[in-house]
Amino acid sequence: MSQLPLRAQLASALGRTAATLSRATGRGDGSVIGGRVGLMLEPDLLRKLAADRKLVLVSATNGKTTTTRLITSALQEFGDVATNAFGANMPAGHVSALASNKDAPYGVLEVDEKYLPEVLDTTDAGILCLMNLSRDQMDRAAEIWLLAQKWRRALAGRPVHVIANCDDPLVTWGASTAARVTWVAAGQRWREDSWCCPECGGPLDRSGFGNGGQGLTAAQMADTNWACRECTFRRPEPNWVLDGEYVTDPRGQHWRLDIQLPGQANRANAAMALAVAETLGLDPARALPRLRTVTSVAGRYTTVERDGRSLRLLLAKNPAGWLEAFDVADPALPIILSVNAQGPDGRDTSWLWDVDYRILRGRPVLVTGERRLDLALRLTVAGVPFQLCDSFEQAVGLLAPGKIDVIANYTAFQQIRAEFGRAV
Ligand SMILES: [Zn+2]
Repeated sequence: MSQLPLRAQLASALGRTAATLSRATGRGDGSVIGGRVGLMLEPDLLRKLAADRKLVLVSATNGKTTTTRLITSALQEFGDVATNAFGANMPAGHVSALASNKDAPYGVLEVDEKYLPEVLDTTDAGILCLMNLSRDQMDRAAEIWLLAQKWRRALAGRPVHVIANCDDPLVTWGASTAARVTWVAAGQRWREDSWCCPECGGPLDRSGFGNGGQGLTAAQMADTNWACRECTFRRPEPNWVLDGEYVTDPRGQHWRLDIQLPGQANRANAAMALAVAETLGLDPARALPRLRTVTSVAGRYTTVERDGRSLRLLLAKNPAGWLEAFDVADPALPIILSVNAQGPDGRDTSWLWDVDYRILRGRPVLVTGERRLDLALRLTVAGVPFQLCDSFEQAVGLLAPGKIDVIANYTAFQQIRAEFGRAV
């Protein structure tokens, strides 16, 4: 990339120094503090660092970190890629990611949903990947509708190529003001936030289109199809279709994903990554082997070992995330659930009532975390037998050596990972 102006160079260098100091003093990976220092010295730093790169932004309620990782992995086929691998997904984290890899011709940045219009405006990114929108912690449907509306405004009239999941009505609505959209039928497991048409408020039908399905393709006939009963808003014809293990590309060619990350949600992330990669000229034959090299994602899916027990940690920070984690968890294994309610988790745990826990019946369930009593009450009402544990350590000790699944929300996950050591 071209040389940064002197002031931006200085800001970027000082930001890196701050990040190094932050790491050295044990205050995390330093990406946020480094970026903040840089932005303080040069408010226009993100714009300058983003210039002259091929930049992809990735946003969604769930799966941002994983999809960012998958796209990065694919684009490394072309060369160096700057990315915020540790989920620091606001502008300070973006500055840090780009400053730490100034010469990389590609950048892939995970972006917090709320910051997307601002980051799009600042970076002028050419490609945007949008996957799903659902209530997060205490955010309710009305708030995510406002979020989608902000996306629409930010995309209107902008020369960005959007790759969006057309199985999510709200994402479709949010993306549809963009001049150019590639639609990916990537599935939608959590539907509680999309009963209403975002355009007119009418009911969304998921099947039975009233015309007997005439003129619809097989993909459109799948149960992921949707249409508003009262206006013309409906699912666009997908360019890419995910069906179980297989992805069909725009030429009709089928690709078996065979990725190492578990569950349907990750297959959806991989389908999005393939579509993004192709937009940049990388076909699935070259992208797929790279997606298959991703085995764990920092802070999302990881396995830790202790005393003969192999603990697979799954992050679930909102109702849609719990459904994804249930899909991955092995029904034959015991499972530990850990819920906290600190700042990053949201203090209010009433969202636990949005999750259907009955799927856990029949396997040993252990409950821990700061808000274990909230979860215990929820499980009691759902008729799921469980054992209450004072600590995560105690829960692990109660289980025999072997494989164990763990589902934890944000700070609970971080605590377990810190205590049991990073094994990414
Ligand atoms: Zn409508």
